[in-house]
Amino acid sequence: MGGEDSVRPVDGGFDQRSTWRLMATTTRRATCRDCGCREGELHELACFQEKCPFCGHQLQTCDCFMEHITLRPGSRRGKSKAALVDMTRAQEVEWERALEKKGRVPFIIYPNLCVRCGELWPPMFMVPTEEWKRYVEPTKRREMLCLRCYGWIKKVIDAGVPVQRGRLRPAASSRRRT
Ligand SMILES: [Zn+2]
Ligand SMILES: [Zn+2]
Ligand SMILES: [Zn+2]
Repeated sequence: MGGEDSVRPVDGGFDQRSTWRLMATTTRRATCRDCGCREGELHELACFQEKCPFCGHQLQTCDCFMEHITLRPGSRRGKSKAALVDMTRAQEVEWERALEKKGRVPFIIYPNLCVRCGELWPPMFMVPTEEWKRYVEPTKRREMLCLRCYGWIKKVIDAGVPVQRGRLRPAASSRRRT
């Protein structure tokens, strides 16, 4: 999550906070809102909540199946998202076998946390990519930040670093006079 391109806004239908907020702190088993399976169980195969055992991303939208099916003559690797739509029954079976063999990923909810303060399911917000890179250090850019922490980070960085985009100032001249 967090600013690969820009942080996605909360989409009403896919806002996990409201349905799952409490679940994350209890031992109650949650139910998948899309296919109805319970935590610990497998999703229905086409469920959008299922994670891919090969890459860890959303099974319905990743390209891993391309590595595990026999491609029709003329079709190219890498071309693919659309190929999912017109996969033949034989290719579907190949892909399902590959998934079974690897081991499908049972449904468990792992909450999003603000990487700085630990807030559960912080709401997402939009930040231009350039700005995100300016304020968020490299290893944290794919993580979540809550709006309060992000605002704080901006404030202290702006206060501490003279704005001189494009080149680094020598350390001595960037010290604040006291
Ligand atoms: Zn499901
Ligand atoms: Zn995958
Ligand atoms: Zn925070």
